[in-house]
Amino acid sequence: MASESATSIHARTCHLCEANCGVLVEVQGRKVISIRGNPDHVLSRGHICPKATALADLQDDPDRLRRPVKRVGDQWQEIDWETAFAEIGARMAGIIAGGGQPALYMGNPNAHNYATGTQTGLLRKALGVRTLYSASTLDQIPHQLVQMWMYGHNALFPIPDVDRTRFMLIIGGNPLASNGSVWTVPDVKKRLKAVQARGGQVVVIDPRRTETAKIADAHHFIRPGTDTALLLGLLKALDEAGLVSPGRLAPMLDEGWDGAWQAIRGFEVAPLAAHCGIDEAVIRALAARLGSGEPAVVYGRMGVSVTEAGTLNLWLIQLLNIATGNLDREGGVMFSSPVIDLVASAGPGTYDRFRSRIGNRPEVISEFPSALLPEEIGTPGEGQIKALVVISGNPALSSPG
Ligand code: SF4
Repeated sequence: MASESATSIHARTCHLCEANCGVLVEVQGRKVISIRGNPDHVLSRGHICPKATALADLQDDPDRLRRPVKRVGDQWQEIDWETAFAEIGARMAGIIAGGGQPALYMGNPNAHNYATGTQTGLLRKALGVRTLYSASTLDQIPHQLVQMWMYGHNALFPIPDVDRTRFMLIIGGNPLASNGSVWTVPDVKKRLKAVQARGGQVVVIDPRRTETAKIADAHHFIRPGTDTALLLGLLKALDEAGLVSPGRLAPMLDEGWDGAWQAIRGFEVAPLAAHCGIDEAVIRALAARLGSGEPAVVYGRMGVSVTEAGTLNLWLIQLLNIATGNLDREGGVMFSSPVIDLVASAGPGTYDRFRSRIGNRPEVISEFPSALLPEEIGTPGEGQIKALVVISGNPALSSPG
Protein backbone atom coordinates (compact mmCIF):
# COMPACT_ATOMS: atom_id res chain seq x y z
CA MET A 1 0.00 0.00 0.00
CA ALA A 2 1.34 3.46 -0.91
CA SER A 3 2.21 5.56 2.10
CA GLU A 4 0.25 8.80 2.67
CA SER A 5 3.49 10.76 2.39
CA ALA A 6 4.40 9.29 -1.00
CA THR A 7 3.86 11.61 -3.93
CA SER A 8 2.61 10.67 -7.37
CA ILE A 9 2.25 12.53 -10.65
CA HIS A 10 -0.87 12.36 -12.80
CA ALA A 11 -1.16 13.54 -16.41
CA ARG A 12 -4.44 15.43 -16.71
CA THR A 13 -6.07 18.18 -18.78
CA CYS A 14 -6.76 21.69 -17.57
CA HIS A 15 -10.45 22.19 -18.26
CA LEU A 16 -10.60 25.89 -17.46
CA CYS A 17 -10.66 27.03 -21.05
CA GLU A 18 -10.90 25.74 -24.58
CA ALA A 19 -7.13 25.37 -24.93
CA ASN A 20 -7.31 22.17 -22.81
CA CYS A 21 -3.62 22.25 -21.90
CA GLY A 22 -1.97 19.09 -20.65
CA VAL A 23 -0.92 19.36 -16.99
CA LEU A 24 1.13 17.19 -14.63
CA VAL A 25 -0.46 17.19 -11.20
CA GLU A 26 1.76 16.10 -8.32
CA VAL A 27 -0.25 14.91 -5.32
CA GLN A 28 0.44 13.61 -1.86
CA GLY A 29 -2.63 11.70 -0.76
CA ARG A 30 -5.39 14.11 -1.81
CA LYS A 31 -3.21 17.18 -1.45
CA VAL A 32 -2.02 18.90 -4.61
CA ILE A 33 1.69 19.65 -4.31
CA SER A 34 2.29 21.18 -7.73
CA ILE A 35 0.77 21.66 -11.19
CA ARG A 36 2.96 22.20 -14.21
CA GLY A 37 2.71 21.95 -17.97
CA ASN A 38 3.08 18.54 -19.59
CA PRO A 39 5.89 18.75 -22.18
CA ASP A 40 4.64 15.54 -23.81
CA HIS A 41 1.10 16.82 -24.39
CA VAL A 42 0.51 16.84 -28.13
CA LEU A 43 -1.52 20.04 -28.18
CA SER A 44 -0.01 22.27 -25.52
CA ARG A 45 3.60 20.98 -25.55
CA GLY A 46 4.30 22.03 -21.96
CA HIS A 47 2.50 25.38 -22.09
CA ILE A 48 0.16 26.46 -19.31
CA CYS A 49 -1.10 29.82 -18.15
CA PRO A 50 -1.28 31.07 -14.53
CA LYS A 51 -4.87 29.87 -14.19
CA ALA A 52 -3.76 26.24 -14.31
CA THR A 53 -1.22 26.65 -11.53
CA ALA A 54 -4.02 28.10 -9.41
CA LEU A 55 -6.25 25.03 -9.85
CA ALA A 56 -5.09 23.73 -6.47
CA ASP A 57 -6.48 26.89 -4.86
CA LEU A 58 -9.84 26.20 -6.48
CA GLN A 59 -9.74 22.62 -5.25
CA ASP A 60 -9.00 23.68 -1.66
CA ASP A 61 -10.98 26.92 -1.62
CA PRO A 62 -12.83 27.08 1.74
CA ASP A 63 -15.74 28.80 -0.03
CA ARG A 64 -16.19 25.93 -2.46
CA LEU A 65 -19.61 24.32 -2.25
CA ARG A 66 -19.34 20.78 -1.01
CA ARG A 67 -23.02 20.20 -0.22
CA PRO A 68 -26.25 21.61 -1.66
CA VAL A 69 -27.37 24.94 -0.24
CA LYS A 70 -30.91 26.25 -0.12
CA ARG A 71 -31.92 29.88 0.09
CA VAL A 72 -33.90 30.58 3.24
CA GLY A 73 -34.81 34.25 3.40
CA ASP A 74 -31.54 36.04 2.73
CA GLN A 75 -29.45 33.16 4.04
CA TRP A 76 -28.05 30.00 2.48
CA GLN A 77 -28.67 26.83 4.41
CA GLU A 78 -26.76 23.61 3.82
CA ILE A 79 -28.99 20.63 3.13
CA ASP A 80 -28.21 17.01 2.28
CA TRP A 81 -28.43 15.61 -1.22
CA GLU A 82 -31.54 13.51 -0.56
CA THR A 83 -33.44 16.55 0.67
CA ALA A 84 -32.19 18.63 -2.26
CA PHE A 85 -33.29 16.07 -4.86
CA ALA A 86 -36.65 15.56 -3.17
CA GLU A 87 -37.40 19.28 -2.82
CA ILE A 88 -36.30 20.21 -6.30
CA GLY A 89 -38.17 17.27 -7.84
CA ALA A 90 -41.39 18.07 -5.97
CA ARG A 91 -41.28 21.79 -6.73
CA MET A 92 -40.35 21.25 -10.37
CA ALA A 93 -43.18 18.73 -10.83
CA GLY A 94 -45.60 21.22 -9.25
CA ILE A 95 -44.49 24.02 -11.57
CA ILE A 96 -44.80 21.85 -14.66
CA ALA A 97 -48.20 20.50 -13.56
CA GLY A 98 -49.34 24.12 -13.12
CA GLY A 99 -48.45 24.95 -16.72
CA GLY A 100 -45.16 26.70 -15.95
CA GLN A 101 -42.34 26.29 -18.43
CA PRO A 102 -38.96 25.14 -17.07
CA ALA A 103 -35.80 26.37 -18.83
CA LEU A 104 -32.15 25.30 -18.90
CA TYR A 105 -29.18 27.65 -19.06
CA MET A 106 -25.84 26.05 -19.89
CA GLY A 107 -22.64 27.93 -19.18
CA ASN A 108 -19.40 27.72 -21.12
CA PRO A 109 -17.69 25.03 -18.92
CA ASN A 110 -20.20 22.48 -20.23
CA ALA A 111 -18.20 22.51 -23.43
CA HIS A 112 -15.15 21.24 -21.51
CA ASN A 113 -16.90 18.57 -19.47
CA TYR A 114 -18.04 15.30 -20.99
CA ALA A 115 -20.24 14.43 -17.98
CA THR A 116 -22.62 17.35 -18.47
CA GLY A 117 -22.18 17.10 -22.22
CA THR A 118 -23.50 13.57 -22.27
CA GLN A 119 -26.14 13.84 -19.49
CA THR A 120 -27.84 17.17 -19.97
CA GLY A 121 -29.95 15.88 -22.85
CA LEU A 122 -31.60 13.42 -20.49
CA LEU A 123 -32.34 16.11 -17.94
CA ARG A 124 -33.75 18.32 -20.65
CA LYS A 125 -36.02 15.54 -21.85
CA ALA A 126 -37.18 14.75 -18.32
CA LEU A 127 -38.03 18.40 -17.69
CA GLY A 128 -39.76 18.80 -21.03
CA VAL A 129 -37.53 21.73 -21.96
CA ARG A 130 -37.89 22.62 -25.62
CA THR A 131 -35.18 25.22 -25.99
CA LEU A 132 -31.89 25.82 -24.30
CA TYR A 133 -30.27 29.05 -23.35
CA SER A 134 -26.50 29.14 -23.27
CA ALA A 135 -23.36 31.18 -23.65
CA SER A 136 -23.33 30.11 -27.33
CA THR A 137 -25.87 32.75 -28.32
CA LEU A 138 -23.72 35.39 -26.64
CA ASP A 139 -20.71 34.16 -28.57
CA GLN A 140 -20.31 31.76 -31.49
CA ILE A 141 -23.69 30.63 -32.74
CA PRO A 142 -23.27 32.60 -36.02
CA HIS A 143 -20.26 30.35 -36.76
CA GLN A 144 -22.37 27.25 -36.23
CA LEU A 145 -25.27 28.52 -38.31
CA VAL A 146 -22.98 29.40 -41.23
CA GLN A 147 -21.21 26.03 -40.98
CA MET A 148 -24.54 24.21 -41.04
CA TRP A 149 -25.66 26.10 -44.13
CA MET A 150 -22.33 25.96 -46.00
CA TYR A 151 -20.75 22.66 -44.93
CA GLY A 152 -23.75 20.66 -43.82
CA HIS A 153 -23.10 20.48 -40.07
CA ASN A 154 -22.94 23.09 -37.35
CA ALA A 155 -19.93 21.41 -35.73
CA LEU A 156 -17.75 21.58 -38.86
CA PHE A 157 -15.50 24.37 -37.62
CA PRO A 158 -12.71 25.20 -40.07
CA ILE A 159 -9.64 25.59 -37.83
CA PRO A 160 -6.68 27.83 -38.74
CA ASP A 161 -3.61 25.68 -39.40
CA VAL A 162 -1.34 28.13 -37.60
CA ASP A 163 1.69 25.86 -37.59
CA ARG A 164 1.88 25.72 -41.39
CA THR A 165 0.37 28.95 -42.62
CA ARG A 166 2.23 31.85 -44.21
CA PHE A 167 -0.32 34.55 -43.57
CA MET A 168 -2.86 35.09 -40.80
CA LEU A 169 -5.50 37.78 -41.03
CA ILE A 170 -7.18 38.00 -37.61
CA ILE A 171 -10.36 40.07 -37.58
CA GLY A 172 -12.02 40.93 -34.27
CA GLY A 173 -10.15 38.19 -32.41
CA ASN A 174 -7.61 38.28 -29.62
CA PRO A 175 -6.14 34.78 -29.40
CA LEU A 176 -3.39 35.90 -27.04
CA ALA A 177 -6.12 36.44 -24.46
CA SER A 178 -8.52 33.67 -25.53
CA ASN A 179 -6.03 30.93 -26.47
CA GLY A 180 -7.76 30.80 -29.81
CA SER A 181 -11.49 30.72 -29.31
CA VAL A 182 -13.12 28.08 -31.59
CA TRP A 183 -9.56 27.37 -32.65
CA THR A 184 -8.02 25.75 -29.51
CA VAL A 185 -4.42 26.81 -29.76
CA PRO A 186 -2.44 26.71 -26.53
CA ASP A 187 0.67 28.87 -26.50
CA VAL A 188 -0.67 30.86 -29.41
CA LYS A 189 1.86 33.65 -28.89
CA LYS A 190 4.76 31.34 -29.62
CA ARG A 191 2.97 29.85 -32.59
CA LEU A 192 2.09 33.23 -34.14
CA LYS A 193 5.69 34.31 -33.65
CA ALA A 194 6.74 31.13 -35.43
CA VAL A 195 4.64 32.23 -38.44
CA GLN A 196 6.69 35.42 -38.50
CA ALA A 197 9.99 33.60 -37.91
CA ARG A 198 9.44 31.46 -41.02
CA GLY A 199 8.82 34.56 -43.14
CA GLY A 200 5.06 34.75 -42.82
CA GLN A 201 2.93 37.59 -41.59
CA VAL A 202 0.27 38.18 -38.95
CA VAL A 203 -2.14 41.06 -39.51
CA VAL A 204 -4.79 42.13 -37.02
CA ILE A 205 -7.95 44.13 -37.73
CA ASP A 206 -9.43 45.50 -34.53
CA PRO A 207 -10.73 48.78 -33.18
CA ARG A 208 -8.62 48.12 -30.09
CA ARG A 209 -4.85 47.68 -29.65
CA THR A 210 -5.19 44.14 -28.34
CA GLU A 211 -2.47 41.86 -26.97
CA THR A 212 -2.48 40.09 -30.34
CA ALA A 213 -2.27 43.38 -32.23
CA LYS A 214 0.85 44.26 -30.23
CA ILE A 215 2.80 41.32 -31.67
CA ALA A 216 1.33 41.53 -35.20
CA ASP A 217 3.27 42.72 -38.26
CA ALA A 218 0.47 45.18 -38.92
CA HIS A 219 -2.60 46.34 -37.04
CA HIS A 220 -5.38 48.22 -38.80
CA PHE A 221 -8.04 49.95 -36.76
CA ILE A 222 -11.56 49.45 -38.06
CA ARG A 223 -14.66 51.47 -37.36
CA PRO A 224 -16.61 49.24 -34.94
CA GLY A 225 -19.47 47.29 -36.49
CA THR A 226 -18.34 47.77 -40.12
CA ASP A 227 -16.60 44.43 -40.68
CA THR A 228 -19.10 43.53 -43.40
CA ALA A 229 -17.78 46.42 -45.48
CA LEU A 230 -14.18 45.30 -45.02
CA LEU A 231 -14.98 41.68 -45.91
CA LEU A 232 -16.96 42.69 -49.00
CA GLY A 233 -14.10 45.02 -49.95
CA LEU A 234 -11.57 42.19 -49.66
CA LEU A 235 -13.70 39.92 -51.83
CA LYS A 236 -14.29 42.63 -54.44
CA ALA A 237 -10.58 43.52 -54.52
CA LEU A 238 -9.73 39.84 -54.92
CA ASP A 239 -12.13 39.60 -57.85
CA GLU A 240 -10.85 42.78 -59.51
CA ALA A 241 -7.27 41.51 -59.25
CA GLY A 242 -8.26 38.23 -60.90
CA LEU A 243 -7.22 36.29 -57.79
CA VAL A 244 -10.39 34.30 -57.15
CA SER A 245 -9.07 30.78 -57.36
CA PRO A 246 -10.90 28.09 -55.38
CA GLY A 247 -8.86 25.43 -57.19
CA ARG A 248 -9.80 21.89 -56.23
CA LEU A 249 -12.78 23.23 -54.26
CA ALA A 250 -14.45 24.41 -57.49
CA PRO A 251 -16.39 21.18 -58.23
CA MET A 252 -17.92 21.35 -54.73
CA LEU A 253 -19.39 24.82 -55.19
CA ASP A 254 -23.06 25.00 -56.08
CA GLU A 255 -25.01 27.70 -57.91
CA GLY A 256 -24.91 29.84 -54.77
CA TRP A 257 -21.29 30.60 -55.58
CA ASP A 258 -22.15 32.53 -58.76
CA GLY A 259 -25.02 34.25 -56.99
CA ALA A 260 -22.67 35.42 -54.26
CA TRP A 261 -20.24 36.94 -56.78
CA GLN A 262 -23.06 38.67 -58.61
CA ALA A 263 -23.98 40.35 -55.35
CA ILE A 264 -20.36 41.15 -54.43
CA ARG A 265 -19.74 42.74 -57.83
CA GLY A 266 -22.48 45.24 -57.06
CA PHE A 267 -20.14 46.92 -54.55
CA GLU A 268 -17.14 49.22 -55.06
CA VAL A 269 -14.01 48.97 -52.94
CA ALA A 270 -13.54 52.72 -52.37
CA PRO A 271 -16.85 53.41 -50.57
CA LEU A 272 -16.51 50.18 -48.60
CA ALA A 273 -13.05 51.34 -47.49
CA ALA A 274 -14.41 54.74 -46.52
CA HIS A 275 -17.19 53.08 -44.55
CA CYS A 276 -14.94 50.78 -42.49
CA GLY A 277 -12.13 53.32 -42.11
CA ILE A 278 -9.37 51.17 -43.63
CA ASP A 279 -7.52 52.57 -46.64
CA GLU A 280 -8.46 51.18 -50.03
CA ALA A 281 -4.77 50.49 -50.73
CA VAL A 282 -4.55 48.41 -47.52
CA ILE A 283 -7.64 46.40 -48.50
CA ARG A 284 -6.21 45.75 -51.96
CA ALA A 285 -2.82 44.75 -50.51
CA LEU A 286 -4.46 42.37 -48.03
CA ALA A 287 -6.55 40.83 -50.82
CA ALA A 288 -3.42 40.38 -52.95
CA ARG A 289 -1.63 38.66 -50.09
CA LEU A 290 -4.59 36.37 -49.42
CA GLY A 291 -4.84 35.50 -53.10
CA SER A 292 -1.11 35.02 -53.60
CA GLY A 293 -1.43 31.24 -53.66
CA GLU A 294 0.58 30.84 -50.44
CA PRO A 295 -1.26 29.18 -47.54
CA ALA A 296 -3.29 31.84 -45.77
CA VAL A 297 -6.02 32.08 -43.16
CA VAL A 298 -8.79 34.56 -42.45
CA TYR A 299 -9.93 34.08 -38.84
CA GLY A 300 -12.72 36.10 -37.28
CA ARG A 301 -14.07 35.91 -33.75
CA MET A 302 -16.14 37.84 -31.23
CA GLY A 303 -15.62 41.18 -32.93
CA VAL A 304 -17.27 39.94 -36.11
CA SER A 305 -19.57 37.34 -34.54
CA VAL A 306 -21.28 39.41 -31.86
CA THR A 307 -22.61 42.18 -34.06
CA GLU A 308 -25.84 42.80 -35.89
CA ALA A 309 -24.38 41.19 -39.04
CA GLY A 310 -22.46 38.39 -37.30
CA THR A 311 -23.81 35.56 -39.45
CA LEU A 312 -23.20 37.50 -42.66
CA ASN A 313 -19.65 38.36 -41.55
CA LEU A 314 -18.77 34.75 -40.84
CA TRP A 315 -20.26 33.66 -44.16
CA LEU A 316 -18.07 36.26 -45.94
CA ILE A 317 -15.01 34.98 -44.06
CA GLN A 318 -15.74 31.47 -45.33
CA LEU A 319 -16.07 32.89 -48.86
CA LEU A 320 -12.62 34.47 -48.54
CA ASN A 321 -11.04 31.21 -47.43
CA ILE A 322 -12.79 29.32 -50.23
CA ALA A 323 -12.09 31.93 -52.92
CA THR A 324 -8.37 31.77 -52.15
CA GLY A 325 -8.32 27.97 -52.13
CA ASN A 326 -7.47 27.93 -48.43
CA LEU A 327 -10.36 25.83 -47.14
CA ASP A 328 -9.32 22.31 -46.14
CA ARG A 329 -5.73 22.97 -47.11
CA GLU A 330 -2.50 22.63 -45.11
CA GLY A 331 -1.65 26.08 -43.85
CA GLY A 332 -5.21 27.24 -44.51
CA VAL A 333 -8.28 26.40 -42.46
CA MET A 334 -8.85 22.69 -41.90
CA PHE A 335 -11.49 20.44 -40.42
CA SER A 336 -10.39 18.56 -37.32
CA SER A 337 -10.45 14.84 -36.51
CA PRO A 338 -11.93 14.81 -33.01
CA VAL A 339 -11.94 11.85 -30.66
CA ILE A 340 -15.69 12.20 -30.24
CA ASP A 341 -16.98 13.09 -33.66
CA LEU A 342 -20.09 15.24 -33.24
CA VAL A 343 -20.53 15.36 -36.99
CA ALA A 344 -20.89 11.59 -37.17
CA SER A 345 -22.81 11.18 -33.93
CA ALA A 346 -25.23 14.12 -33.83
CA GLY A 347 -27.57 15.76 -36.28
CA PRO A 348 -26.41 18.71 -38.40
CA GLY A 349 -28.33 21.30 -36.41
CA THR A 350 -31.58 23.11 -36.93
CA TYR A 351 -32.88 26.55 -37.78
CA ASP A 352 -36.31 28.14 -37.37
CA ARG A 353 -38.31 25.02 -36.56
CA PHE A 354 -40.20 27.21 -34.10
CA ARG A 355 -40.03 30.72 -32.74
CA SER A 356 -39.68 32.36 -29.38
CA ARG A 357 -42.71 33.58 -27.49
CA ILE A 358 -40.99 36.95 -27.00
CA GLY A 359 -39.51 38.68 -30.03
CA ASN A 360 -40.53 35.97 -32.54
CA ARG A 361 -36.90 34.80 -32.87
CA PRO A 362 -36.02 31.57 -34.70
CA GLU A 363 -34.48 28.73 -32.75
CA VAL A 364 -30.94 27.89 -33.81
CA ILE A 365 -29.72 24.39 -32.90
CA SER A 366 -32.54 24.28 -30.33
CA GLU A 367 -31.44 27.53 -28.70
CA PHE A 368 -33.07 30.89 -28.30
CA PRO A 369 -30.91 33.96 -27.68
CA SER A 370 -29.91 34.25 -24.02
CA ALA A 371 -30.66 37.96 -24.32
CA LEU A 372 -34.36 36.99 -24.41
CA LEU A 373 -34.25 35.07 -21.15
CA PRO A 374 -35.12 37.99 -18.82
CA GLU A 375 -38.24 38.82 -20.84
CA GLU A 376 -39.21 35.16 -21.15
CA ILE A 377 -39.05 34.98 -17.35
CA GLY A 378 -40.71 38.30 -16.69
CA THR A 379 -43.56 38.34 -19.21
CA PRO A 380 -46.75 36.66 -17.93
CA GLY A 381 -48.77 34.36 -20.14
CA GLU A 382 -48.71 30.89 -21.57
CA GLY A 383 -45.19 29.45 -21.77
CA GLN A 384 -43.73 31.88 -19.22
CA ILE A 385 -40.54 30.48 -17.71
CA LYS A 386 -41.27 29.62 -14.10
CA ALA A 387 -38.23 27.49 -13.26
CA LEU A 388 -34.64 27.86 -14.38
CA VAL A 389 -31.90 25.26 -14.04
CA VAL A 390 -28.46 26.81 -14.47
CA ILE A 391 -25.57 24.43 -15.10
CA SER A 392 -22.04 25.84 -14.80
CA GLY A 393 -23.15 29.27 -15.83
CA ASN A 394 -23.53 32.72 -14.37
CA PRO A 395 -26.07 34.46 -16.59
CA ALA A 396 -26.66 37.16 -13.99
CA LEU A 397 -23.13 38.27 -14.82
CA SER A 398 -22.70 37.22 -18.45
CA SER A 399 -26.12 37.75 -20.05
CA PRO A 400 -27.75 41.07 -20.83
CA GLY A 401 -30.55 42.04 -18.48
S1 SF4 B 1 -4.65 28.28 -21.35
FE1 SF4 B 1 -4.59 28.24 -19.12
S2 SF4 B 1 -6.72 28.01 -18.46
FE2 SF4 B 1 -6.63 27.50 -20.63
S3 SF4 B 1 -6.41 25.26 -20.62
FE3 SF4 B 1 -4.34 26.15 -20.78
S4 SF4 B 1 -3.66 26.27 -18.68
FE4 SF4 B 1 -5.87 25.96 -18.58
